[in-house]
Amino acid sequence: MSRGRDPHPDVVVIGGGIIGAACGYYLAREGLGVQVVEQGFPASRTSGACEGNLLLWDKELTKELPLGRRGLELWRGLAQELEFDFEYELKGSIMVAEDESGLEAVRRKVEALASAGVPGKMLDCRELHTEEPALAPDLPGGALFPEDAQVEPRYATAALIEGGQRYGLRLLQELPVYRMVLNSARRVEGVETTCGRIPTGAVVVAAGVWTRQVAATAGVTVPVQPRKGHIVVVEKAPWLFRRKLMEAGYVGAVESSAAALQVAMVAESSRSGTLLLGSSRELVGFDRGVSIRVAAAIAARSIRFFPALVGLRCLRTYAGLRPFSPDHLPLIGPVAGVEGMYVATGHEGSGICLAPATGKLITQWITGQPLDFPAEWFRPDRFQGKEGAQDATQTAVHGG
Ligand SMILES: Cc1cc2nc3c(=O)[nH]c(=O)nc-3n(C[C@H](O)[C@H](O)[C@H](O)COP(=O)(O)OP(=O)(O)OC[C@H]3O[C@@H](n4cnc5c(N)ncnc54)[C@H](O)[C@@H]3O)c2cc1C
Repeated sequence: MSRGRDPHPDVVVIGGGIIGAACGYYLAREGLGVQVVEQGFPASRTSGACEGNLLLWDKELTKELPLGRRGLELWRGLAQELEFDFEYELKGSIMVAEDESGLEAVRRKVEALASAGVPGKMLDCRELHTEEPALAPDLPGGALFPEDAQVEPRYATAALIEGGQRYGLRLLQELPVYRMVLNSARRVEGVETTCGRIPTGAVVVAAGVWTRQVAATAGVTVPVQPRKGHIVVVEKAPWLFRRKLMEAGYVGAVESSAAALQVAMVAESSRSGTLLLGSSRELVGFDRGVSIRVAAAIAARSIRFFPALVGLRCLRTYAGLRPFSPDHLPLIGPVAGVEGMYVATGHEGSGICLAPATGKLITQWITGQPLDFPAEWFRPDRFQGKEGAQDATQTAVHGG
């Protein structure tokens, strides 16, 4: 990917993860001059330390689900539109119940989603094992959601950046932004980087879990915090399962706000044949280090559902930080009180799925086009007065 500096871009996007890449792509496609500034390289943080599930059934029904449906629709189009192959696959997913009460919860989920227009089919024990013969024989059933899909998140990020570059997007990597620059009327004038100032009238802060620190340099509080997750990668075994699989309890883990470790089975096979096993959630700050204890808990939970995993080798494990917002919904849109400042973050465990819909929405806000969703749904300033509207001091960003 080429480096390049636009001397006066219309928009600076801070962050080259999947969210910044999607914002950059759609903004450039509208003809705006876009500069993406990334302190590492594209997908070097959370978007390169995750899975690529594009799921609907784990979404909050009233606001996140419509964003997710738009995301799935856009990913389908992007698979045709972008030249870089990002391994899009319409695989369908299966929610697996561990016992009869879990199966009842799956049934309620299928009904709720059906009333929101998302197709799902209940599977009894025999149908479940016909779909996925390697599942433990005692599992009573589940549900199949045929519209769910998957992408390779690092390739998807690269594909969006590369697609944007075809419309003139410029990428500066290994360049941290350490401060946003506002004038006395609190209007954005640019960003300060370690290689000098980039003047611009609009900034999209898409810095993942580091958005809070970047926004604080403009005196704005963005209350996202890191929610850590581990993935265990297992040697090639494409025969073990076909679809994406998650235990029914996964939704409870997503919806909870608990700080303590939670583990729920999520399994995905990659195009190369390796298996990705998750998932864990815990609030432990910005530490991205791997914990053998957590990896072992994920392995044990996965073996409960797929006993044949016992004979396979673990190749590696990695951890990423999900940007977690207080109401479990993303923050997408303009910041009240700072003209020209936009935020796109807080997607927690769904940033890959929701990225295109987020990029579109940010582009609609900036260009003044009609919005895909009601303005107030994802407004970043909806927490004002709850955690304090503005950080008292404007400080420079350190680390990330
Ligand atoms: C284990 C795990 C599994 C997951 N599985 C899924 C899944 O299956 N499906 C799904 O949809 N989502 C999944 N997610 C969630 C998804 O990974 C995130 O929601 C998404 O990657 C967040 O993207 P982002 O662009 O906001 O953040 P990031 O990818 O972290 O990007 C932010 C970028 O900003 C840069 N940055 C920060 N500060 C600065 C600065 N001052 N100057 C310049 N650059 C800066 C960072 O270097 C970083 O590259 C998972 C997450 C984890 C941890």
